[in-house]
Amino acid sequence: MLRRLYSTILGVPTGKLAKNIADMTTTELLIKAGYVSQPNAGLTHWLPLGLSTIRNIEEIIRKHHDKAGCQEVSLSVMSHQSLWDKTGRWQNDELFKVGDFCLAATAEEEMTQLVQRTADSYKKLPVIAYQIGRKYRNEKRPRGGLLRGREFVMKDAYSFDVDQSSALRSFEKMNQVYYDIFKELNVPFVKANADSGAIGGDLSYEWHFLSESGEDTLLECDACGVVGNVERVRPHLAGGHLADEAEVSYHLTRENDLCLIYYPKGRTVNFKFLNDEDLVELHTDISSEEAVQTYKRSGDSEFRNIVRIMDVGVGPGTLLPDLEVAYSRSRMTTFEGVPLTEAQAGDVCALCEAGKLKSFKGIEVGHTFYLGKRYSEPLDAGFVDSEGRRQHYEMGCYGIGVSRLVAAIAEVTRDTHGLRWPASVAPIQVDIVVAGSYTGDLGTVEKFCSQLDGLRYRVDATEGHLGEKLARSKRLGTPLQVIIGKQYPKIEIELRGLRRDLGKLESEVQQQ
Ligand code: ATP
Ligand code: MG
Ligand code: MG
Ligand code: MG
Repeated sequence: MLRRLYSTILGVPTGKLAKNIADMTTTELLIKAGYVSQPNAGLTHWLPLGLSTIRNIEEIIRKHHDKAGCQEVSLSVMSHQSLWDKTGRWQNDELFKVGDFCLAATAEEEMTQLVQRTADSYKKLPVIAYQIGRKYRNEKRPRGGLLRGREFVMKDAYSFDVDQSSALRSFEKMNQVYYDIFKELNVPFVKANADSGAIGGDLSYEWHFLSESGEDTLLECDACGVVGNVERVRPHLAGGHLADEAEVSYHLTRENDLCLIYYPKGRTVNFKFLNDEDLVELHTDISSEEAVQTYKRSGDSEFRNIVRIMDVGVGPGTLLPDLEVAYSRSRMTTFEGVPLTEAQAGDVCALCEAGKLKSFKGIEVGHTFYLGKRYSEPLDAGFVDSEGRRQHYEMGCYGIGVSRLVAAIAEVTRDTHGLRWPASVAPIQVDIVVAGSYTGDLGTVEKFCSQLDGLRYRVDATEGHLGEKLARSKRLGTPLQVIIGKQYPKIEIELRGLRRDLGKLESEVQQQ
């Protein structure tokens, strides 16, 4: 409960207000308003108001996970190379490494190993474990600080089941948890099919806030209403200048992997595949458009690895775009049958074949995956079934960008006056602004406030013009202002937040 005078909140400015709010990026606004500070690109120091905001979001996330029977844990941030070697992810460019350890970018490996230690029988399954903590990814372009950090706060959950149908039930349960969380946050969101063929697919969903500043392009069918992310297949290749003869290295991380390789018209491309050591290559066919490799892992059935080759019609020396390794992609179990052409706005929906696709931008705030045995097999993690046979877990994983949410909520709700938090996450829900015209004593104000139990409020009884104090409160994004002036006990109320989530707050305050 914040019950402080203005000047006592670390980081919150007390002097004259900057005028150019509308021109500021949301990160600049959060910094100027004293929520966070950025020591370096992609890093964040949390100040009291920012910390309170992120904790409010965490509490909502926690409440819904606990209600669904998920168990909270907190794993070490450091993780040993030996585990990541087994799943083929140690070479990922995004990992920060400290000797033989990496700083956790995600926790499939560690969580699977942890659960394996206790959930060794079908009687102990299903298990869904989650944590809320810091993650580390060496993002090439840490953008807007909180939206894309090198260090950021993620909620990551993992489900472990005995078979596929049970795993799909856990997956659906977690999608319901996500729906409930985003509903309570009270910011418009969509659930989009991710990494799916055409606009269909049901193994991975992304949860987006709609925003022009979003990095993802989403397509929605105007007839069946299905939403999908156009980013279905991202090349797993770093850009750079093309040499006379381009040599392409490609790290195979999973079955049926698929990547694009750009090559200059009329030039030869030499393929160099870096594969898991325990994979046995059976044969490779390279045509001008496709390279299909067949592999076998000891004891495993055969699988194919498909590489599409794209002719970009460029010559040696051309600067190719820097193509990020799409981290989330390496969690998918299969890409087989994914068409390479993007669905575009205006096209007929491939799913219902009736509607047209329209496009809009989104900020990815969450992701739910059905994983199958992608991690349990290489880590040899599993349980003994009812007939005494050992089986590998069927898994799912579920992420929410908690620190990204702070900036994403701010981004979609802010206006020209400043931030505009939904009451559910606002660090201060009510500002009690004492006007200069108020002739009573502060004890009376305190008494008034003591009745606002359960609300996060703050009293501003500092010197200064009422208009300026209100403007400050609005800039900080406080949803409701209560003005105590000369007519007290008659009070004035100003609504800053979105009316639909303030009804209860307003009536509670007015009843006092
Ligand atoms: P993006 O496409 O934005 O790089 P991602 O698909 O790589 O995200 P996931 O692996 O799906 O991310 O991680 C789960 C969630 O964590 C994402 O939905 C996103 O909200 C959040 N997240 C991922 N990377 C970052 C980051 N660098 N900074 C802040 N939040 C992040
Ligand atoms: Mg990423
Ligand atoms: Mg993702
Ligand atoms: Mg993504």
